[in-house]
Amino acid sequence: MRKIAVIGAGQAGLLAAHALHQNGYEVSLYSDKTADDFLTKTRPTGTAARFHMSLEFERELGLEHWGDVAPRGEGVHLHFCRKKGNVFLTLLGRLDDYYLAIDVRLQSATWMRELTERGCRVEIENITIDRLEEIAAENDLSIVAAGRGEIQQLFPRDEARSTYDRSQRFLAMVCVHGIPMNFDYAPYYRPVKFNFFAPHGECFWVPWYSMNAQQSWSLVFEAKDDGPFDRFRDVKSGQQALDRAREVVKDMTPWDYEWLKDAELCDENSWLVGSFLPQVRQVVGTLPSGRNVIALGDTAHSLDPIGGQGANNGNKMTRNLVECVLEREDQPFDADWMRGTFDRFWERHRYIDMFNNTLLEPLTDAGKIILVAQYGSTAEAGNDSPQQKIADAFVSNFNDPIELTEAFHDSDKARQVVKEAFGSSFWPVLRGGLGIAKAQLLQMLGRPGGHPGT
Ligand SMILES: Cc1cc2nc3c(=O)[nH]c(=O)nc-3n(C[C@H](O)[C@H](O)[C@H](O)COP(=O)(O)OP(=O)(O)OC[C@H]3O[C@@H](n4cnc5c(N)ncnc54)[C@H](O)[C@@H]3O)c2cc1C
Repeated sequence: MRKIAVIGAGQAGLLAAHALHQNGYEVSLYSDKTADDFLTKTRPTGTAARFHMSLEFERELGLEHWGDVAPRGEGVHLHFCRKKGNVFLTLLGRLDDYYLAIDVRLQSATWMRELTERGCRVEIENITIDRLEEIAAENDLSIVAAGRGEIQQLFPRDEARSTYDRSQRFLAMVCVHGIPMNFDYAPYYRPVKFNFFAPHGECFWVPWYSMNAQQSWSLVFEAKDDGPFDRFRDVKSGQQALDRAREVVKDMTPWDYEWLKDAELCDENSWLVGSFLPQVRQVVGTLPSGRNVIALGDTAHSLDPIGGQGANNGNKMTRNLVECVLEREDQPFDADWMRGTFDRFWERHRYIDMFNNTLLEPLTDAGKIILVAQYGSTAEAGNDSPQQKIADAFVSNFNDPIELTEAFHDSDKARQVVKEAFGSSFWPVLRGGLGIAKAQLLQMLGRPGGHPGT
């Protein structure tokens, strides 16, 4: 039986360990935390909302346990603002299948225990390079899924595939409960609530299931330097992060202040602040002995949280790696094979990185065509208008960014999307533009813009 080691008990490492074990490999998992540590001492590494394609992989492995109790996310509700105090447009889209954001601490604790019950070896150990040498010598393949932990430095940056050389946003995440699980302004569905402020950054609220079984919200703030979202740098506790979040919401997204004001922290560790560089790494890590190990998940490719893609990316990368391992049969897991597995993943899934970066950058001309044409979408049940079809297509792209990402960078493709929905690509943009202009005029007169879903 071929032996495989996995370093790291996050989303990617645990899925890899379970999948490989189920396919008959002798798997050893190395984690720097016990299952109990995840529940008592650890911060969640992110919100980790996962869409249908990613959840399907977890279901195949018998690991999706929370779909009946967690709040199901049904779409996206977007306010797009060009400046503070003015709403430029709204987009309300629905997904065909729901998404789930399960507290990754609950997942790691549960999936680690299940791995042991299913007969795998689980070692609690902080793996150093020296120890990795020993592990690599004992195993046919060693997979490093250690997130952005120090051991990530073993894998050089992939210059050709990396877009950024500095972090793009200062991030804050606060997970809260005790408030409604819907919004008064669109009570008929439960979306992730996105607020884009072109010059300043973004904030979004994701339905989240906490490790204490609370139906909750994960609030994420993405601040551009020195702007009005950039107020979390000195935060030292969860309560302080929540107080700051309330201030920012009152100031920037007052439509959500009443909804948020009585929120409570899920637990004292349910928050994060900081920043990191989104980048792609070469997946082959060469140890001093010359042995090679392969990177997986955030260790290989970390994305800014803006598009809710990091954990989805990890799931898709893990599925691809497991398929490549199975196809390899008895041949060696050498460096060329390792590179080839990531090339295959990238060929199919590079749109994830492209879509995520699209959301970090100013709206493209092609993107304007799509957003203006969809203006009027409501996400109400039974709405099958062309506007709704485009809004739904935008939201569906979060599940599989191959679908619409290129249309955000190519005006001909964007017009084609509009034409497919409306039968014409000129009048829908004009009509959407007129609706937006009317809302601007109303706001200039000091009245509500009257946007759909507000
Ligand atoms: C604010 C925020 C919001 C996010 N929202 C979303 C979202 O909505 N949707 C989405 O898809 N993604 C989202 N993400 C990204 C997502 O959370 C991550 O991509 C995902 O959790 C990474 O999983 P991982 O298994 O690769 O790494 P990790 O979760 O970091 O797991 C790695 C594990 O390895 C352990 N480890 C590290 N070093 C060692 C060592 N030397 N020895 C042993 N163990 C080690 C760590 O302690 C950790 O337990 C978000 C991220 C942030 C920051």
